Amino acid sequence: MNTDASPLQSAEGTLFVVAAPSGAGKSSLVNALLEREPAISLSISHTTRPPRPGEQYGRHYYFVERNEFEREIAEGIFLEHAEVHGNLYGTSSNTVNTLLEQGRDVLLEIDWQGARQIRKSKPDCVSVFILPPSRAELERRLRGRGSDSAEVIARRLHNSREEIAHAHEFDYIIVNDDFDVALGDLQSIVRAVRQRSTLPWQRHEALIAELLA
Ligand code: GDP
Ligand code: ADP
Ligand code: 5GP
Repeated sequence: MNTDASPLQSAEGTLFVVAAPSGAGKSSLVNALLEREPAISLSISHTTRPPRPGEQYGRHYYFVERNEFEREIAEGIFLEHAEVHGNLYGTSSNTVNTLLEQGRDVLLEIDWQGARQIRKSKPDCVSVFILPPSRAELERRLRGRGSDSAEVIARRLHNSREEIAHAHEFDYIIVNDDFDVALGDLQSIVRAVRQRSTLPWQRHEALIAELLA
């Protein structure tokens, strides 16, 4: 009997990738999702962007200098990395792979370039793109957040076109108009995917083991 491809090996967690133009509500939705679904681990990215008021090292990002980031790229620590709005952002491989191997679900908040790299290395990932309900509302949210300078906001608004042009590459698209509706949509995706990927083996594992014995 060929045991190499045994279906009984323990299931890996699911890798969720969430992207959106800046200001669409991605971080707000993801944070609310994690309160409802505490079994999902959020990957903390490395970035060369300076911290916004209130942002903490290791909680929101690992804030690093550009030369340190470039050294880390050369060392090959990143699962993906990209330049976004003039700053470098990257996801380190170690934590993500360890959590997935332990069967934990992991969520990445990254841009479309990073999502593309992840699809290549982790084809089983599930990707979600979040759209604002209109351009005017996107601008209003970016300004209303009050965390960025006028120059940074203008740059992010300009870059939103490029980000949105890649929405069709994602498995799911959510429009974040009413926050609670969008949150419900995001949670439904997570729940549906979990049922799909874990049920067959986890529910029937003992029975299958007995049948194969
Ligand atoms: P936000 O737009 O308010 O989320 O602003 P941020 O400055 O926190 O993030 C800017 C962009 O960088 C967003 O498009 C993120 O999705 C992207 N980003 C954040 N972390 C990563 C990362 O680890 N890798 C990649 N590729 N993109 C990232
Ligand atoms: P992103 O992470 O995509 O840049 P944020 O989560 O920081 O976006 O949200 C941008 C701003 O818009 C925040 O001030 C947030 O409170 C607000 N916001 C998010 N979703 C909604 C929504 N559905 N309706 C109104 N305001 C929202
Ligand atoms: P912000 O600086 O507003 O936190 O994020 C700006 C953009 O960078 C967002 O679109 C965010 O998704 C993206 N971003 C944050 N972390 C990463 C990352 O690790 N990798 C990639 N590719 N993009 C990231």
